[in-house]
Amino acid sequence: MTLRLDHFIGGEHSAPADGGYLTSTNPATLETLYEFARGTAADVDRAVDAAAQAFSSRIWRRMTPTQRGHLLRRFGDLITENADELARLESQDNGKLLREMVGQLAGLPEYLYYFGGLADKVQGSQIPTNSPEVINFTQREALGVVGLITPWNSPMTLTLSKLAPALAAGNTAVIKPSEYTSRTILRLAELADEAGFPAGVVNVVTGLGAEAGQALVDNPKLAKISFTGSTRTGAAIASATAGRFIGSTLELGGKSPNIVFDDADVSNAAMGVIAGIFAAAGQTCIAGSRVFAQRGIYDELLEKVTARAASIVIGDPMAPETELGPLAFEAQLGKVKEYVDLGVSEGGRIAYGGDRPDVDLPGYFFQPTVLTDTTNDMRVVQEEIFGPVAAVMPFDTEEEVLELANDTDYGLAAGVWTQNLARSMRMSQQLEAGTIWINMYRAMSPMSPRQGFKNSGVGIEHGIESMHEYTRLKSIWINTDEGPVADPFVLGR
Ligand code: NDP
Repeated sequence: MTLRLDHFIGGEHSAPADGGYLTSTNPATLETLYEFARGTAADVDRAVDAAAQAFSSRIWRRMTPTQRGHLLRRFGDLITENADELARLESQDNGKLLREMVGQLAGLPEYLYYFGGLADKVQGSQIPTNSPEVINFTQREALGVVGLITPWNSPMTLTLSKLAPALAAGNTAVIKPSEYTSRTILRLAELADEAGFPAGVVNVVTGLGAEAGQALVDNPKLAKISFTGSTRTGAAIASATAGRFIGSTLELGGKSPNIVFDDADVSNAAMGVIAGIFAAAGQTCIAGSRVFAQRGIYDELLEKVTARAASIVIGDPMAPETELGPLAFEAQLGKVKEYVDLGVSEGGRIAYGGDRPDVDLPGYFFQPTVLTDTTNDMRVVQEEIFGPVAAVMPFDTEEEVLELANDTDYGLAAGVWTQNLARSMRMSQQLEAGTIWINMYRAMSPMSPRQGFKNSGVGIEHGIESMHEYTRLKSIWINTDEGPVADPFVLGR
């Protein structure tokens, strides 16, 4: 019998109000993995009410910041204790390599430890005033119930990037995971419960974006929405919440440049290009999908990148030797194929890949693909594909590549490969992206703030700044002079 998963509301597993369920499929084998509740507005309302009740409850209100920090660290320990299971479940759900998941799980508790350490540092400051009798200070307060909407490509990491700072700051949460990856997010809620978070502090409503996700966005009791996903949905969420003046943190798409200069170590740069676009089958917002290679090393870089792409081991994401697994679901595969066809119709040439690989499994596999003869204005170079497809383009000068790299609607990340320190600094100052990597690509840490520029988002994830996104700042003024208050209509001399 197929495993059936319910929502997690108010500390309990909770069946959907209208009894509907959906199924999740293993993208490598196409086997049905489990059924999960198809959330509706009624379920979302119940979850938000549970979170609101928890937020105003005595137990959560009176819990000290130090105690909240302990709970977050305990939550982190439980992730470590259950790491093997969590890695396997997520790999089955979205096709990510098991060995990549094992690596991710080793780092995942750090989110809880880092923000656990910040829970007792949610502080304001004392502000100077121009009157010796007047004291002014600020304090940071939790917002209330926050709605967290997360995607399928790195469900646990992207959920904890939001949940950990939200809880550290004293909020309660309702999470709507992607319909493709509900399993591990429900497990995280169970582990938060086991760690000792009071019932209702962490809730999960599963289901479709257009149903449960939309209902969460529309719920009037929410104090904030934090969303990671496509720019299109992010824009819809921003306009749906605009009239309610609640904050939103939006981590959206990207089309990041990875720039290799003649003076770079080309072998290292080739590895950076490969990691930037083929890791996680290119299904990352920070994928280095626009590769710019300076004319002097263009041929050498292209040769190294295509040679390594050709030797990438594609197959079962559970097998230790596999380097590239399937795409996460059928529509993703269709989208990637369509973009490669579009690139060719626009004048691009497939230097490697472009098709289904020879794999012994029926799933959504696609070859690592390298396009050449593309120009920066083509749709295949401008629009986010979210798959293992790189366009490699030559350039001549630093000025030229800066203009090309910045000529995009997105601004999430950029990579620069050069041995020239002054050039690396010039580039880092002038590239319009929230994260710049010099002689490296894809580094990320809960300690380091990240922000999308342009259409890549608003708001900050990770770092102390991200915890502040889950607070509001109150300014308090105190007049310590107990003497008479001057009549405001009598002008002083
Ligand atoms: P979406 O933006 O559609 O989905 C992201 C999350 O939002 C999911 O939980 C989704 O639920 C939910 N959602 C969808 N529609 C709504 C809505 N109207 N109101 C509230 N929530 C909603 O992205 P997709 O998963 O469809 O991926 C499409 C593209 O988005 C990718 O190809 C890629 O370009 C980009 N993307 C970027 C990511 C990033 O890390 N920046 C991550 C994932 C995708 P459900 O899955 O159930 O529809």
